Amino acid sequence: MGIASPVALSSVTPASRLTDSHGRVIHDLRVSVTDRCNYKCVYCRTGEMGAQYPELGIGEYLRLIELFVSLGIEKVRLTGGEPLLRRGLVELIQQLARLRTLSGQPLDLAMTTNGHLLDTLAAPLKAAGLNRITVSMDAVDEPSFERITRVPGSFQKVLGGIRAARGAGLTPLKINCVLLRGFNDGEIEAFAHFARQEDVVVRFIEFMPLEEGRLWTPEIVIPLAEIVERIGRVLPLVPLPPREASETARRYTFEDGKGEIGIIAPVTQAFCGACSRVRLTSDGKIRTCLFSQVEHDLYGRMRAGENDAELRSYIARTVQGKEARHHIGEPEFMKPSRSMVHIGG
Ligand code: SAM
Repeated sequence: MGIASPVALSSVTPASRLTDSHGRVIHDLRVSVTDRCNYKCVYCRTGEMGAQYPELGIGEYLRLIELFVSLGIEKVRLTGGEPLLRRGLVELIQQLARLRTLSGQPLDLAMTTNGHLLDTLAAPLKAAGLNRITVSMDAVDEPSFERITRVPGSFQKVLGGIRAARGAGLTPLKINCVLLRGFNDGEIEAFAHFARQEDVVVRFIEFMPLEEGRLWTPEIVIPLAEIVERIGRVLPLVPLPPREASETARRYTFEDGKGEIGIIAPVTQAFCGACSRVRLTSDGKIRTCLFSQVEHDLYGRMRAGENDAELRSYIARTVQGKEARHHIGEPEFMKPSRSMVHIGG
């Protein structure tokens, strides 16, 4: 499907901003544009399951995102699956970059990618209006990296992609690293050096029970405290103050002020109370939490012919019902029906 002409948001009567029944204001939207992926990271995919869900047309994503922006969304992160596999992505970013938030500012446009195709796409993405990019990288040692991605040659491709992104001005550049005990926990200290050498912000993420297979145990998670302690032994860390209440990462710099690392600890130090996020899956379902047991079929309503006012009202009602928190590690915890790669991380 082609790209629909963008709604002039100035012609939209601003509804009240999205809030949930726990008093949280929702201003971040994560949009998956495909659940296909060209990597088979051992902690994410089994390697046997391909894409499970249909993709919408680029114009359909645009229309749905415009509805969210008219309800107060200020930041959109495109993700997947692997978003760079999605045809029409650069055009989608071009259209999104034209939108204005309710306060009249340009939308903050970010993306999370494995970086494999970034060497050629970084410059076009920046030119289209992408503001920031996060590249996932789970080891700085080449053989360890490729044992995780299960794709030969992937390390050099991603390193090239990171450098192309920096060269294109997609900065500050963030690197996401999911740590798993027994897989890549030997890389923690090397990542601290990498952050300084490559001038990137490395963000360690605690592993959540969202994999396709069954790998997660509490013991495999490397907790925030352990990461801080281990890096601190080789390069003393200095905590940085949070920039906003909904910031997910605990940020640190080093004693000489050069470089930054962050730790996102959804398991050991959950930040649900300050969550400002909702998600739209590649097939147009709203998920109000990564761990939601229910999905809300926004696209189905659009296809059935509901008008913008009806769709906005549906979004607002859905967001009201956002879950208070996740239940990882509690007896009643249930894995959601979709894993991370199919939700959009
Ligand atoms: N393919 C893109 C990428 O690799 O960044 C985007 C999708 S990927 C699902 C988004 C992020 O989720 C990656 O940084 C990945 O490492 C992270 N991730 C995947 N499974 C996870 C899990 N179970 N717990 C925490 N993070 C996870």
